[in-house]
Amino acid sequence: MIVLVEDDPNIADLVDLYLRQGGYRVYQAADGENGLQLVRDRQPRLVILDVGLPGAIDGLDVCRQLRATSDIPIIMLTARDGEVDRVLGLEMGADDYVTKPFSPRELVARVKAILRRAETPKNDAHAVLTIGECEVDLGRREARVSGDVVPLATREFDLLAFLSENRGLALSRRQLLDGVWGADWIGDERTVDVHVRQLRKKLGDAFPLSTVWGVGYRLD
Ligand code: CA
Repeated sequence: MIVLVEDDPNIADLVDLYLRQGGYRVYQAADGENGLQLVRDRQPRLVILDVGLPGAIDGLDVCRQLRATSDIPIIMLTARDGEVDRVLGLEMGADDYVTKPFSPRELVARVKAILRRAETPKNDAHAVLTIGECEVDLGRREARVSGDVVPLATREFDLLAFLSENRGLALSRRQLLDGVWGADWIGDERTVDVHVRQLRKKLGDAFPLSTVWGVGYRLD
C-alpha cells in the first residue's frame, strides 16, 4: 500500500491509476498535514511526495518529519527546474526523485525497484562487515558506530553496503549509480555525492571514505 501526497488532482489520479494497475493500493492526500496523518494511520510500504504542496508544510517538510521517526521509502516529485529541491530532498533522506513531467510507467518502475531493494533480504543475510569503527550489518540493514545504530535512509544504507562490499577499490560515480541505483536508473551523478555527504555527516570519523580525484570514492 502506498500513500500519494500530491495536490494536483490530474497528476494524482493518473499516478493512482497506474499504481493500481501495478497492483498497489493507494491512499491520496492533497496537502502535507493530511499526508503525514495518512502515513501515521495507514503505515504504507512507500510514500510518493510532491515537493510543492499547499498549506503550512511542503513536501520537503513532510520528508524531514517522516525521516525523524521512520526509514519508509520516499520518492519525491520535483519540478523540472527544481535542482535545489532535488538536492534538499535527497539530503532529507528521500530515496529517489522523479522530475515533472514524468511518465507514470517510469514512476511505477521506480516504486517496484525501491520496494524490491528495501524488502528483499540479501543472500548473505548474516554478514556483518567491519569498516573502521563502523559495523555494516547486511542482514539487519543496520549501520552501527561503537554499537549504536545510526539511522540511514534506504539508499544511504545501500550505498554504504555496496562500498563496504567493494572496499579498497576506487569506484566511479557511474559504477556506484549502477551498483546501488541500478543500471536503468536515469539520474545524475551528483546524486551519489549527495548520499556520500549524508553518510559522512551521519557516520563521522568512523567512516574511512576517501575521495579519489577524477574517479570517485574509495572505502579504506
Ligand atoms: Ca504541487
